[in-house]
Amino acid sequence: MATKLPATQARLFKNIFVCRHCKAKLRTDPRKVLEKKVRCRKCLKKAFRPIKKK
Ligand SMILES: [Zn+2]
Repeated sequence: MATKLPATQARLFKNIFVCRHCKAKLRTDPRKVLEKKVRCRKCLKKAFRPIKKK
């Protein structure tokens, strides 16, 4: 998976979010995150951040 193609990078990072509580990664639609329709499957919290930011 060591590719630098922009399209691949976008696919890898675009729809992935990280739980703010338990750091679980989750691939979902950003719209659903904004609408709070996504719940962490581990801790059931609804706080997510995009995977890129620290
Ligand atoms: Zn969590």
